[in-house]
Amino acid sequence: MTGGRLIRVRGQVQGVGFRPFVWQLARRYDLRGDVLNDPEGVLIRAFGADLEGFVVALSAEAPPLARVDRVEVSELDGAAPSGFEIAASQGAGAATRVTPDAATCPDCLAEINDPADRRHRYAFANCTHCGPRFTILRALPYDRAQTTMAPFEMCPGCRAEYENPGDRRFHAQPVACADCGPRLWLEPGGGGIPKAATLLLGGGILAVKGLGGFHLACDATNALTVALLRQRKHRPGKPFALMAPLELLRQYAKVSPKAEALLRDPAAPIVLLDKGHKALPEEVAPRMVSLGWMLPYTPLHHLLLQAVGRPLVMTSGNLSGEPQVIGNDEAREKLGAFADGFLMHDREIARRLDDSVERAEPPMVLRRARGRVPGTLPLPKGFEDAPQVVAYGGQMKSAICLLKNGQALLGHHLGELDEALTYDAFLQADLDYAELFDHRPDLVACDLHPDYRASVHARSKGLPVVEVQHHHAHLASCLAENGWPLEGGKVAGIILDGTGLGTDGTFWGGELLLGDYRGFERKAWLKPAPLIGGDMAAREPWRNALVRLGQAGMSDWADVLFPDKPLAMARMAAEKGVNAPLSSSAGRLFDAVAAVLEGSGEAQSFEGQAAMWLETLAEPSEAAEALGIDWAKRTGHSPDPEIETDPLFHRMIRDMTQGGRTRPALAFAFHQWLVILFAVRARRLVLDGDAEAVALSGGCFQNALLTRLMLEALGDVPVMVHRETPANDGGLALGQAVIAAARSLPGAAG
Ligand code: ZN
Ligand code: ZN
Ligand code: FE
Repeated sequence: MTGGRLIRVRGQVQGVGFRPFVWQLARRYDLRGDVLNDPEGVLIRAFGADLEGFVVALSAEAPPLARVDRVEVSELDGAAPSGFEIAASQGAGAATRVTPDAATCPDCLAEINDPADRRHRYAFANCTHCGPRFTILRALPYDRAQTTMAPFEMCPGCRAEYENPGDRRFHAQPVACADCGPRLWLEPGGGGIPKAATLLLGGGILAVKGLGGFHLACDATNALTVALLRQRKHRPGKPFALMAPLELLRQYAKVSPKAEALLRDPAAPIVLLDKGHKALPEEVAPRMVSLGWMLPYTPLHHLLLQAVGRPLVMTSGNLSGEPQVIGNDEAREKLGAFADGFLMHDREIARRLDDSVERAEPPMVLRRARGRVPGTLPLPKGFEDAPQVVAYGGQMKSAICLLKNGQALLGHHLGELDEALTYDAFLQADLDYAELFDHRPDLVACDLHPDYRASVHARSKGLPVVEVQHHHAHLASCLAENGWPLEGGKVAGIILDGTGLGTDGTFWGGELLLGDYRGFERKAWLKPAPLIGGDMAAREPWRNALVRLGQAGMSDWADVLFPDKPLAMARMAAEKGVNAPLSSSAGRLFDAVAAVLEGSGEAQSFEGQAAMWLETLAEPSEAAEALGIDWAKRTGHSPDPEIETDPLFHRMIRDMTQGGRTRPALAFAFHQWLVILFAVRARRLVLDGDAEAVALSGGCFQNALLTRLMLEALGDVPVMVHRETPANDGGLALGQAVIAAARSLPGAAG
């Protein structure tokens, strides 16, 4: 009797160097047995003295990219084998897991900076703990022949590392060195990193081929160059992302411990950070207090940033509205007009992935892409028998979601489907995910809006289609992310959003819903106002101010605030209801308030710009808080489900003109007003026993101030918020998918 153990490890344990880790650990603990991959994860047979210590170390010392969800141990009889080995994978699907791309690990970074190392200054160094994964994958199973590393034959040195279980590069599919791997060059004129750095320091704009696509890079400290890049890209207002090593970044941004941890995460997302003591030119992100920063995440980026010694603008290399460029020829053709040079390489990008965008405090994914996809979320309790579902999301911030085997895979950010090329990318992603994950949906889910391109596509699949109301989907995505059980009871959903088609034919977006995965009631909403010019209302904030002032009987103020806008025509359109659908959108209310406080109502170059400006403007103070409370009191908490906005505009105009209140105080008071009106109603639903908890979703909750105030106002009732999935339309497909699944499952007994 040897007293062996059968050990099952579940979680993200394949393709992350888990088997060699187990092999090395087994040697340390002097164990005999074996380790293998199978469809459920990693399976270990172990015999030896200190099996308990070994099991503890499995979780405690797991490799950086692994995520151990569960370790199950059972007795194992029989004779112990003579050694410990890595055995062949068992069962179909064992090799189908693929992990997201991961930023260069400290060991690889040390090697490229070590003159004695054979990978010194090599721009494509990687190992089992880091490097490209999803962006180089052409097909499954994930091995080198199925990636864009296939054309590069390993040299003897790399092969030896690849085959040695004791090496950090054991079975690292993209393993490479300067002798055998991808090469880097500068166009035109040739050269490498030093010449590329010279171009950047001289004020040039450089197209850089990265992991999931091309970036356009320039010296972020050079105002003229940044302005030139804006001009060439026709991108007047949208903030540019920035890249710098941490020590340099700290001079320009406030980096809290939580923010540092997020920056250093292997996903290496763009993290929104408040400005630090050293300033960058305003052109980088006009009127923004926080900037989006990321650390260098490939050896190429590290080498380039070291050579430049300054922060770089790293904005996606694309034509306005189009997807990011990924091919070398495509880059030459499309980015030629923007870039003074190209830093190219000959490893192809198999899949386009934008940089992810996240916030550390409160933690939230705003754009889910490189480094996060194709990560999966476990479905909540009750969804064990869920059918395979594909959900196609909305029209903006498009992303696809697949359900299979109790997991949800929320695909990467695709963009706005109005753009023909983005729609092509959407169709491609649909085929691609289905093939990669061997997905055979029983059900298709989409938005209620019949004209969204995603909805049209959903209906073309020849499968049963479940149409889901937009804000119900927002609510369900928040529930699913938080593991709310299928039979967990009803939740009060505060959904503050742009617009989505409601069940009554108007556009919703400022709602209090009471519901679960299967259905909902609309308990309260912001008083609707016409969206003059339809989509134009989302681009021109003054349109929303005009209608809200008009409703409040203060239309004259629009003439004072926006004298050069076509007010007469807009008033007529609103009155006659010509191309002026009604909407309870909270996003458009933010626009209206921003336009009044800003006093010009200029067009915004991206959706939500005015709202971001308002968040930035808002300054907390006791007086501002009192003001918000007073405004909310005047609005009242009548049982009427429609939340009046007239008192808000009356008080705001009065306090601005006669009250001598500052704009930062008024901006804060507006946030406070909105929060109180929804929080009081949602709390009441919980306290009365109608709801078990509150969930916050919708694009407005990207606003950190709004989220913080809402959490404070909700107090001690249980509240769910988005963290790993976007609160904006990027999370919509997840909500649609779980709603479709829930409706197909039998209800609770009784
Ligand atoms: Zn590494
Ligand atoms: Zn090599
Ligand atoms: Fe939405």
